[in-house]
Amino acid sequence: MKAVRFTAWKTFPTIEEVARPKPGPGEVLLKIAGAGACHSDVAIFEQFDENMGAQLAPSYTLGHENSGWVEELGEGVTGIELGDAYLSYGPIGCGQCPACSRGQDTYCHNAAQQPYLATGLGRDGGMAEYMTVPARNLVPLGDADPVAAAPLSDAGLTPYHAIKLSLPKLAGGGKTALVIGLGGLGQMAVQILTAITGAKVYATDMKPEAMAEAERAGAITVASGDDQVARIRELTGGQGVDAVFDFVGISPTIKLAQQVVRRQGRITVVGVAGGPTSWDFFSNPYEAELTNTYWGTIEELYEVVALYRAGKLSPNVTRYTMDQALDAYRDLHDGKLSGRAVVTPHA
Ligand SMILES: [Zn+2]
Ligand SMILES: [Zn+2]
Repeated sequence: MKAVRFTAWKTFPTIEEVARPKPGPGEVLLKIAGAGACHSDVAIFEQFDENMGAQLAPSYTLGHENSGWVEELGEGVTGIELGDAYLSYGPIGCGQCPACSRGQDTYCHNAAQQPYLATGLGRDGGMAEYMTVPARNLVPLGDADPVAAAPLSDAGLTPYHAIKLSLPKLAGGGKTALVIGLGGLGQMAVQILTAITGAKVYATDMKPEAMAEAERAGAITVASGDDQVARIRELTGGQGVDAVFDFVGISPTIKLAQQVVRRQGRITVVGVAGGPTSWDFFSNPYEAELTNTYWGTIEELYEVVALYRAGKLSPNVTRYTMDQALDAYRDLHDGKLSGRAVVTPHA
């Protein structure tokens, strides 16, 4: 079968012919419906090096947001029907520690002893015709379109987790949220905020088409510029924003968040660009929290799928065939995408 392989640090991936995998005990073989291309993949093959550790070291098949149909059951797997469509939860921890027991493999207590982080992150992922995955990681999609669903397992789940942790700041009337950065995750954040909170949603990005898409999803956009902070303060009655979500994470975007968050508000940095910021007693409003989040839990992925099946989330997806998979990464790298690139190996 064909697979998109990450073969060496700082090396663009290649499409290779590899053997179709066999599901081990407790695993299933998934016939891939969709595999989303993520900015983290670009960081992995372009920026990262040996210092990232053995868990992410090449070589393996990329793709950590995947959906598909069950093709084969490994030993001991019950309660799963061949041919049914599932979304795959990417992270794979030990499965038994307190964090994994609540479905939060991202914070597995035994992560240091695991051979990889997730499907597509150290372990063979979904940018291939088939992928094996523990049955525990499958979330049923029912009759929903599995191709458009693929990005939900990262581009949907990651903002959902961040927003869920901020709900105490957004409950009640007259609350406000700001989404900084309207790529795949930021657009999903606008849809999730609109679906599960009553907050007024503001959004900003450098690209006019991304701003237009966020407006169609119900956001009020605020273009960047010297007076951006003043305009956001004015829009929020001088108070500032209750919950800010930064999907970029460079120094200027974190600074913007610090300047517009309100007293007792919350800033969540989700983007991994890694810009430094400074903090001192007077740099942020009183009791304003500044935190980060990473991916989400299996239970939250069930909630994301429920929103998708209810028609509240509609990922903007651009489809690529297996032979075009490298173009998906090129287009992502060159900033040519407005939605999420999804590779569909069996289309
Ligand atoms: Zn990702
Ligand atoms: Zn664990």
